[in-house]
Formats: sequence, structure tokens, C-alpha cells
Amino acid sequence: MTSSLLEAFLDHAHRAPGRPLLTFEREPVSYGELAEHVTAFAKGLRQRGLQPGERVALFLENSPRFIIAYLGVQAAGGVVVLVNTAYRQVELAHILSDAEVHTCVTGTAGIAELIPLRDQLPSLQWLVAAEPPAAATPASLPVVSFDTLLVEGASAPIALSLPRPEDLAVLGYTSGTTGRSKGAMLQHRNLLANVKAVTEAWRWTAEDRLLLALPLFHTHGLMVGLHGTLYTGGSLELHRRFVATDALATLRDDASLTMFFGVPTMYGRLLEESRRTGVKPRALRLWVSGSAPLSPQLFHDIEHDFGARILERYGMTETVMNTTNPFEGERRPGTVGFPFPRQEARVVDVRTRKPLPLGETGEIEVRGPHVFAGYWRRPDATAESFDAEGWFRTGDLGEVDADGYLRITGRARELIISGGFNVYPREVEEVLATHPGVAEVAVLGLPDADYGEQVVAVVVPPPGVHAPEAQALVEWCRDRLASFKKPRRVVFMDSLPRNALGKVQKHLLRARLR
Ligand code: ATP
Ligand code: MG
Repeated sequence: MTSSLLEAFLDHAHRAPGRPLLTFEREPVSYGELAEHVTAFAKGLRQRGLQPGERVALFLENSPRFIIAYLGVQAAGGVVVLVNTAYRQVELAHILSDAEVHTCVTGTAGIAELIPLRDQLPSLQWLVAAEPPAAATPASLPVVSFDTLLVEGASAPIALSLPRPEDLAVLGYTSGTTGRSKGAMLQHRNLLANVKAVTEAWRWTAEDRLLLALPLFHTHGLMVGLHGTLYTGGSLELHRRFVATDALATLRDDASLTMFFGVPTMYGRLLEESRRTGVKPRALRLWVSGSAPLSPQLFHDIEHDFGARILERYGMTETVMNTTNPFEGERRPGTVGFPFPRQEARVVDVRTRKPLPLGETGEIEVRGPHVFAGYWRRPDATAESFDAEGWFRTGDLGEVDADGYLRITGRARELIISGGFNVYPREVEEVLATHPGVAEVAVLGLPDADYGEQVVAVVVPPPGVHAPEAQALVEWCRDRLASFKKPRRVVFMDSLPRNALGKVQKHLLRARLR
């Protein structure tokens, strides 16, 4: 019985070392080559003092080195801490100190970012430089090159043992959309259970080849794209980052590709690029979208232009993948489908926590072997998130339609209760977004003496367009929605605060408006 994704990967490498694993900037890498580097990296880490259970941060762009370090840390018994490459000193200091990171693997720019933080990070012992260092090593923090570590590790007399299912594999920091990001403790058994479920549901096999341009530091790219490939013995065309022109050219030229995974923004850019240049992708077996809501409009546009019905799925850092539209059967736009095999999902009343009938909106809860072990050093947040029967409160609002398809309708924390009525910001945002004077909009609740909370809309007008009258926007809503949902206040801004994944950070807006 395989007990970790790492073990499944090493088995493939052992049985068919010459099998192609990936191509990156035209360089092919086989399963065998990668496995050799993974083992050397792991031994190198152990020889330099890394103990099982200690945390190693990856602050790296996509490349084969990311994958070597990711699997190498796990092979050494360490815990991987994933760090968004867009993060700068404030976020880095928070994550690296919260996780008590021992080692960080990073590039030249990352080293420059980390050196000034040295005093705030007493647990940090050394850095592994994924690129040759541009400047001399600062004496305060030892830097070892990636290549040196591989060479040292290749001949190190160290015996590695495979991780146990209940060992921690990854501390996944949430995106920080609703507050400070928290470290989700993912065990090897969680990752393995989820990758089995995902590959089964999507009929993913060793014959598949995925174009992966999503960042590997985030669940979507790493735990769906990379994990599925390693588990099935399939292969990847790996891009350093998503550039619409390059992705589209690859989708047109590479006849071996069978799948593409992206976030809605990527699909929007691919479509724009395709309409601008006339370049069309070849037919693929599977197109997947997730991480943020895919608008039914974009779903239909992609179907029209590319002849593909995107499969939308729902996941989060804490649980990897929760629900998916069917591989066979109807993919319903605006929904995220059904639970993956051997996993459960339900919608409960936010106050009574009792399951709701079909069609009623409440908080989505999930349960199963994919659900994480709790938040790192946050027993309060962990206790708040689980009930006695093991259901995890996702913090997302949703409803199940008559055919069992789950629809996400917003975030529980963002639900506005005004004069005793529930107002779902997403619904008001969708109405305001159809007004020609609105390019971007966020709706939130602010304290109100009479109503408990009042509905406030923050609007960004399109570039070069005069902001509409606030009153006109209120009327627009009143004509289309129940009166208690209309904004009582409309505020115009030049842009909305967004996190590194492009999600609107309403807690920052709320603080600004108070
Ligand atoms: P934080 O937990 O720090 O506030 P976050 O929830 O944005 O940040 P992630 O774990 O990266 O951090 O994102 C998971 C969330 O993304 C889900 O809880 C859900 O709100 C949203 N999401 C994921 N897939 C979809 C989808 N297909 N449609 C709508 N929302 C989605
Ligand atoms: Mg979250």
C-alpha cells in the first residue's frame, strides 16, 4: 500500500526511470533524473542538520528546482512551507516567523528580500540559493547553492525513510483574503487521499500531459496539477509563469497536450489574446477552472470560441479539492458540482448549524480524509472550524440545486445582516457590475445604529469614464432587487485592495471606510 504521494512518485521513477516527467523551457526531465535529485537534495538537507518535522520554506518561481525542493524536503522528513512569490517583507516576516522556518530555498531576489529580516527570524539557519548568488554571501546568514547541496547529498552516508501517513507534509498558508493568512497543517495522508479522488474523478492517467502555468506555491498548481501528474505517472509542460501569448502558442502547437488548468482570469486573458490574434488552441481532453468563481458568461464564451466546456471545481488550502463538476455528464456553469469520491459536503444554517434543504443558502461544510489536521499553532481557530462530528466549516456560503449541484454564493464572514434581513454581497455586486459606470465593485456591511449593519458599495468606474451619480446606482439596485439590499452608501475609489491572487480583501476596505 502506498502511504504518500512521494512514495507513489518514487515507485514510478523506479519502475520506469526514462519516462518523461516534464519539459521546462525546452529541457526535458525524466522521472529517474528528478528522483535522483530529490534523494540527493533530501540527504544534503539532513547532512546539514535538518531534523524531521522542521520547516523548510520554498519562496521560488516555477521550475524543476521547485519540484526537487518540494519532494526533497518531504523525503528528508521535513515540512514544506509554501510562500507566494509576490510576498514582500511584511508577509514574509509573518509566515516565516509563524512557521518557525529553519531553511528557506529561494532565488537571488528572495535572498535580498530575506536578509533585512534576519533579526526577526531567529529560527532561520540558512538559505539555499536556487540561482547562483549575484552578490557575496552576507556573513549573518549562510547561503549554500542548490548545486552544492545536490553534490554533497549525492555522496552523503544518510539513510532516508519514507514519511508516515500522519506526518505533516505541508504548511499551506491561506491566501489572506479574509484576514491574516493561517498555516493549514496538511498530512501526507490528506494529500494522498485527495490526489486519488481527483485523478479518479477526472479519469487522469499516465497518458495525460498537462500545460501547467499556475504557480506551484498555491494549491491549484501544486496539489492538483503537480500531484495528479506525479501520482498517475503522467507528464507536464511547465511554464515559469502564465503569459497569455506563450500559453496560447503552446496550446496551438503542442499536439501532445491533453489538459489545461487555470483560474478564471487566465481564461479571460486566453480568450482576449485569441480574439486579438486569431490563434486558437487545439482540442484538449480537459479544461479545468477554480480558485475563484468562473462567470457563466466566460464559460459560454470559451465554449463558443474554443469548443470546450470548462470543468469548474471548488477547493481551498485547508482541504485541497472539495467538489467538482462531472467529467462525464453535464457541466453546469455557475456551479462547482458534487463532492469528489469518498468525500462529503453539505450546506448548514449559519446559526443553528443544522443541514438545510435544497435551494437554501447557508455555510458549506466538508468532511473526509482530505481535510487538514488543523491550523498551525492556532488551537482557537482550529476549534472554531470543526464540529464534534468532524465537519469542517469552510467559511464559504452556498446552496445545492434540485439536481445536487453546489453553487458558491459568497463568504460567510461577508454576509450582511441589515434590519434582520440577510444580504449576500455577491448578489448586489453582480447587479451593480451590469451598470455601465461600474468596472469593479465590492459590497460590504458596516455597523449601523438603526439596522445593525448597512449595505455599502465600493465602486471603481471604468478608466476614462466619469463616476456615475451615487443615487443612480442605488436606483439601479432598487429596480432589480428587494429594497433592503440596495446600498445605503456608495463610495468611489480608484482601485480595490486585492491580495496576491487577485481576490478582493474586504477586511482592508472595511478598516478604511470605518
Ligand atoms: P483566507 O482563508 O486567508 O481568507 P482564501 O480563502 O482566499 O484566503 P485559499 O485557500 O487560497 O485562500 O482560497 C480558497 C477559497 O477560494 C475558497 O474558500 C473559496 O472562497 C474560493 N474558491 C475556490 N474555488 C472556487 C470556485 N470555483 N468558485 C468560487 N470560489 C472559489
Ligand atoms: Mg479561506
